[in-house]
Parts: sequence; structure tokens; C-alpha cells
Amino acid sequence: MTIISVQDAQTIILKLVEGLQETETISLDEATGRILAQPLSSPLDFPYWDNSAMDGYGVRFEDVKHAGSDHPITLDIVTEIPAGMTPNLSIQSGEACRIFTGAMLPDGVDTIVMQEKTRQEGKKVTILSPPNYLGEFVRKRGSFYQAGHILLSSGIQINEPEMAVLATAQCSHLNVYRRPRIAILSTGNELITPNQPLQPGNIIDSNQYALKAFILKNGGIPISFGIVKDEPELIKNKISEAINSADFVLSTGGVSVGDYDYIGQILAELGGEIKVNGVGMKPGKPLTVAKFNNGCVYFGLPGNPVSALVSCWRFVKLALDKLSGLKSNYQPQFITTISHDNLSSNGQRETYVWGQLKLVNGEYIFHLAEGHQNSANLINLVSTNALAILPVGVTKINQGETVKVLSL
Ligand code: AMP
Ligand code: MG
Repeated sequence: MTIISVQDAQTIILKLVEGLQETETISLDEATGRILAQPLSSPLDFPYWDNSAMDGYGVRFEDVKHAGSDHPITLDIVTEIPAGMTPNLSIQSGEACRIFTGAMLPDGVDTIVMQEKTRQEGKKVTILSPPNYLGEFVRKRGSFYQAGHILLSSGIQINEPEMAVLATAQCSHLNVYRRPRIAILSTGNELITPNQPLQPGNIIDSNQYALKAFILKNGGIPISFGIVKDEPELIKNKISEAINSADFVLSTGGVSVGDYDYIGQILAELGGEIKVNGVGMKPGKPLTVAKFNNGCVYFGLPGNPVSALVSCWRFVKLALDKLSGLKSNYQPQFITTISHDNLSSNGQRETYVWGQLKLVNGEYIFHLAEGHQNSANLINLVSTNALAILPVGVTKINQGETVKVLSL
């Protein structure tokens, strides 16, 4: 094992990963969460045409600019335009139209007077106070977006606002990057699936499920390769199959220095170039990362459930973001906050402790998970949304002191 720093491991891992090139065309209904693979523009201005921002009266500014309670101005209402109607006449001086929010402006109207500033009697409306400026309460055609400009850039994730924009641009089909395919493999003689009877000495393969959730949450397609016994030939066959069917392989277990830890050696035998073989962090020290000729990146994660997840949150997340085509700086989301609890470390490795960022009086405070901070303790990992970091050389962070936190 050649232990490198967490920062060096991050740099090396990100360099190994190329963004996906393959795209697929999907319908707008399927677009949520996907990564746009082409810049998008629209042939339509937005708003599409001048329309009213208020329920009120469409007027000519020149007619009403001097209106006031001591100088009311009365106009003839010559038409009514609800939203959705195409106006069919033009408004002359001395005239007004009744108009509603979102309705298209007729020719001649340049300003809207809100209903609250008027009094209507029959076919006449009296303007009680002047508009503040020419064009008040008019949403001008193209004022939010002009046809032909870039509407959405390539590499952004499609979430609520982007869905609204795509719909508005009448984009019924779009090009997105295909989803990353991520193989998951659990190694260990002791492992059983959740529905096998528990015999003394067994450990249930929880990693398979934790990693699957992690991949789904990050937009990938998990491909389960199940459990493999600690037998070099079996492992070799499975790994070989996995690296030929996925963009990344995540395996857990078998990367330490024990007698049954074969992964590193097998990766090398299969032609993988070992790029990371030990990271100065706790938990997560035995992380092994290899690159294969076909582009597949292999993450040999430690077997302990917390170690496996911490490695994913700290490294695989960034790699997956880059693979998926997302344009970002691929940096972890660190925030500086206050610790609610005393945190400790042996100071020798960068230490990650788990817990929750809680919003207290408008400020985030890091709360350490109660119970053992032990990498086999997946129980108190529940509801973790942040990892607090104790740098090398720091053995203690006292309650009330600032702490750097990785927000998950
Ligand atoms: P290893 O890295 O193979 O030495 O495993 C370290 C610890 O993690 C051992 O206690 C394993 O039993 C446990 N472990 C390994 N793989 C899994 C898994 N898939 N799910 C839960 N625990 C595991
Ligand atoms: Mg093992």
C-alpha cells in the first residue's frame, strides 16, 4: 500500500474519468434528473408577445399620464381581452380595453393601469392615478429571452426550473447523456443476502443495497453482480465480466492486507493500472482504484459499511458527476460550520465522522451521530447528511468550535 493524501486521491481519480459521449433522445416527460447533452435554444421569444402583468385596463400612456384624484381621466372601454384571446381591434386615443393577467396587448395599448387604481361605470373607466412610467405592467415580448440565444447549456441537470423552460420552449424531445452504468460486487466468504437464513459468523451484504441507493440517487444504472466468495478464480471471473459491462465497477471488501484480500492483485492480473492503493483517511484507508484499457474505472472499496459509503461520498460522487456529463467543477461540497459536539481523532489520518447538519435558528450546526463512531456501525449512520472532517494533526475539535463539513 502506498498511502496518498485525500486531496491527491481526489485529483488522481478525477483525472481517470472522462465524461460520457453517448447520448439518447428522450421525451420531455422522462427528462427530470437527466443531463442535457446539447445546448438548447428556442425559435420563440419569451414572452411570446406583449402581455399584461395585471388585471386592469390597457391604455395609451399619453392619455393618462397626468391622471390624478383631482384630475381623473375617463376613457371608453371598447373591448375586453381575457387571457388566451387574440385582440382584433386597435385602441385609439380616449379609449381603453379591459384586460386580464397574461392577455395579449392590442395595438395602441402601451401601458396597463391596475384595476385598483380605476373606477368602472358601465362602458367607461376612470383612471384615478397615473401610471409610473410608459410600459408599466406590460411584459414585453422577448424581455425575458430572445429567440436564438442559448436557453439551456449542455451539461446541466434538468430539474424543476429547466423542465418549465423546456416545456415553454415546446421542446417535446431532447438529447441527454445516457445514464452511467455502474456494476456493484460484494466480496466475502461471510456474506449472505438479506433473505438467506443467518448462520453463526455470517454478515448480511448490506453494501450491495447501500451502493445501489447511492448510484440511483446520483443518476446511474446499478448493475448487481451479487456476492462473490473470496476465491481468486471466482473473483477474477466476476471482475472481468463487470469491467466489460459497466463504466465503473464498485466492489466492496477484499482490499485490505488480510489473507483473503485479493482484489488488488487480481486487478493487476487483469491488466488494470492501479492508480490509488491506500488513502490517508479514516475510515476508507484501503481504497483501491484501477483503470482499465476499455475506459472502465474500478473502485475497490473497503468492506466495512461505513468505510464503503464514506469512500463513495468523498470520491465516487465526484467521479460519477464527471462521468455523467454534468458540467461542474467536481469539488466536494465543503461548508464551515459549528460543531455541537466534541469531535476526536488520533490525528494521524484525515478523519471523517458522521452526523447531521441541523438548522438551528437559521444556522447549520453539525451534530455528531450518537453511539459508536465505528466503521462497522451502520446503525447510527441512519439520517447522516454530513461528515465532519478532522485534518491530519488535529486530535480534537471542541463543541462550539468551527469545523469543516462535507455536506452530502
Ligand atoms: P474486508 O474489507 O473484506 O476485510 O471487510 C471488512 C469488514 O466489512 C468485514 O467485517 C466484512 O464482514 C464487512 N463486509 C464486507 N463486505 C460487506 C458487505 N457487502 N456488507 C456488509 N459488510 C461487509
Ligand atoms: Mg473480506
